[in-house]
Amino acid sequence: RFEAITMAPPDPILGISEAFKADTDAKKLNLGVGAYRTEELQPYVLNVVKKAEKLMLDKGENKEYLPIEGLAAFNKVTADLLFGSENPLIKQQKIATVQGLSGTGSLRLAAALIERYFPGAKVLISSPSWGNHKNIFNDARVPWSEYRYYDPKTVGLDFEGMVADIKEAPEGSFVLLHGCAHNPTGIDPTPDQWEKIADVIQEKNHIPFFDVAYQGFASGSLDADAASVRLFAARGTELLVAQSYSKNLGLYAERIGAINVVCTSADAAARVKSQLKRIARPMHSNPPIHGARIVANIVGDPTLFNEWKVEMEMMAGRIKNVRQKLFDSLSAKDKSGKDWSFILKQIGMFSFTGLSRAQSDNMSNKWHVYMTKDGRISLAGLSLAKCEYLADAIMDSYHN
Ligand code: PMP
Repeated sequence: RFEAITMAPPDPILGISEAFKADTDAKKLNLGVGAYRTEELQPYVLNVVKKAEKLMLDKGENKEYLPIEGLAAFNKVTADLLFGSENPLIKQQKIATVQGLSGTGSLRLAAALIERYFPGAKVLISSPSWGNHKNIFNDARVPWSEYRYYDPKTVGLDFEGMVADIKEAPEGSFVLLHGCAHNPTGIDPTPDQWEKIADVIQEKNHIPFFDVAYQGFASGSLDADAASVRLFAARGTELLVAQSYSKNLGLYAERIGAINVVCTSADAAARVKSQLKRIARPMHSNPPIHGARIVANIVGDPTLFNEWKVEMEMMAGRIKNVRQKLFDSLSAKDKSGKDWSFILKQIGMFSFTGLSRAQSDNMSNKWHVYMTKDGRISLAGLSLAKCEYLADAIMDSYHN
C-alpha cells in the first residue's frame, strides 16, 4: 500500500533550486540550474519568440492533436538545422525524425528504441555527464557504463582514457556524446580528437548517440556547434541525435525537441520512424504543439531566423563576458599562483570549478551560492556585478 512508500531523495539539480528558494539571505546566488538569466539575473524570453507567438495568435491557429511524430514543419527544420539543409542524408530521406518532449523526452524515446531492438546493448556515458542520463537509461532498462572523460589533474579532457574505454567496450555499444558544450565540464574534444573518436567508434561497430542540448548557444553559431554531429554524419554511419530547444530558444517549459535516427537507407529510416511512433504512442500519445510552431515559424522565416541568431549570439556573448570576468577576479585574488585559465578554455553555459563536495557545501552554507555538488556552476545564472562576490566565495572555499 502507499503507506510503505519511502521518501525519494531530492533531485541533485532541481533540488538545488528548492534550497535556493528557502534561503532568505539577500546575497544568495543560484548557479545550480542551467537556465539563462539577464545581467539583472531575471529569466529571459527571446524577443523573436514573442514575435513568433504574436504571429501565431494573430493567425488564430487551433489546438488540434498533432500526429504522433509531431509537427511536420518542425521535424523538417529541426533536421535541417542539425545536419545542414544541403546535407545529402536529408535529400536521400535517410533520417527518421520524431518530435519529442524536449531533450529529455527525445533521449527517452531513443532509450526505448535501444531497449526494444538492441537487447543487452550497453550505452557508454561520459564520466561525468548530465545527471539525468543515467536516470533515463535506468528507467528504460538499458544497461550503461561510463567512459573516462574528465581529467582532474588538468581540469581538461582525458582523451587517452576516453578512447581506451570506447575501444574496450563490447562491439556494437552505443556511445553517448555531447554534441557541444559538454555538461557539466564545459570541455569539448577538438575537431582532430572528434575524428579519432569517430575512427574508434567505427572500428568497434559502435553506434554514436549524440545529445545536442546547446546548438548555437555554446559558440553563438548554429553551424559551428553542429560540427561534431556533421563530422559523424559525413562518414555515412548510423547515428542517433537527440535535440533540445530549451536553451538556444529559451523554450525550457515548452518541452520541444526531437530524436533523429540516421539510417543507411530511406527504407530503414521509414521503418525506424514507424517504430519510434509506436514507442511514443503509449508514452505521451502525441507531442505538444506550441513550441513546435514557434521553432518552425522562426526557422522558416528568414527575418525571424536572423533575429534569433542575433539574440543567441547576445546570450552566448554575455556568458563569455561573465566567464572572462570571473577568471580575471579569481586570478587577481589568488595569491597562491594557481592557474585558473581552465575556466577560459571551457565553453557553454557551465564551468567546472574543480571544487569538491565539501567545498561546494561551504559555497552554499557560508556564501549562499548554490551549485551542483560536483563543482559545476552555471555561468548563465551569474552577472558581471556578482563576479567579485563569487570569486571571494570560491577563494574562501578553495583555500580554507
Ligand atoms: N542533455 C543535456 C546535456 C542537458 O544539459 C540538458 C538540459 N540541462 C538536456 C539534455 C535536456 O534538457 P531538456 O529536457 O530541457 O531539453
